[in-house]
Amino acid sequence: MTKARLFVISAPSGTGKSTIVCRLCEREPGLLHSVSCTTRSPRPGEIDGLQYEFISTEEFQRRINDGYFLEWAQVHHAFYGTPRTPIVEALQQSQSVIMDIDVQGGMEVKKAFPDAVTIFLLPPDLKVLENRLRSRRTDDERQVALRMAEAANELKYADRYDYRVVNDELEHAVSELHQIMMKEMTSNL
Ligand code: ADP
Ligand code: 5GP
Repeated sequence: MTKARLFVISAPSGTGKSTIVCRLCEREPGLLHSVSCTTRSPRPGEIDGLQYEFISTEEFQRRINDGYFLEWAQVHHAFYGTPRTPIVEALQQSQSVIMDIDVQGGMEVKKAFPDAVTIFLLPPDLKVLENRLRSRRTDDERQVALRMAEAANELKYADRYDYRVVNDELEHAVSELHQIMMKEMTSNL
């Protein structure tokens, strides 16, 4: 017997959020991964509707006006937003949800849902972070520089999250996150 929870994962770009969220969804098939909308272009291999729904800035603006988003933010010069309905419906149906969003979104969600469990994923250090960004081969030099410049600011938010996990060895980090989630889904039942 588990209790439905809303999990929020944030980290500087390149830390390994997408990789870890994907592994967690494999371990917990009942978990809903919230698919965000974004105005950035798809990276090679990204499929519309799977990693993100890729929409124009005009469409994004229309959806803001319609109250479509639970939260939204501008990150690295693009817009990102979480559709409200799938999350509200999942929680109503006792399904846990995992969101991979930036620190601005993380703070918004915690304000709106104080019961949300917020987890900050840390890179082992900034050099490793830069290597991961480059090894992903999805961002040009300008994007890597932008993401590294913003990482320093994002790291300042780590203390405001309920949990902090270092993504050094992947399987170890996945297990640590999974344990946190299991604990939160079974506590105070
Ligand atoms: P994010 O979603 O936080 O931007 P990604 O999940 O895309 O980050 O990971 C960035 C890169 O780092 C990817 O190439 C991924 O395979 C790699 N990566 C993720 N976690 C680890 C890890 N623990 N050790 C080594 N490489 C990792
Ligand atoms: P990327 O372009 O690397 O996929 O994501 C860039 C940043 O945007 C990451 O920090 C990611 O967590 C964040 N992000 C993705 N979706 C959302 C969202 O719906 N809302 C907010 N606030 N940030 C998001």
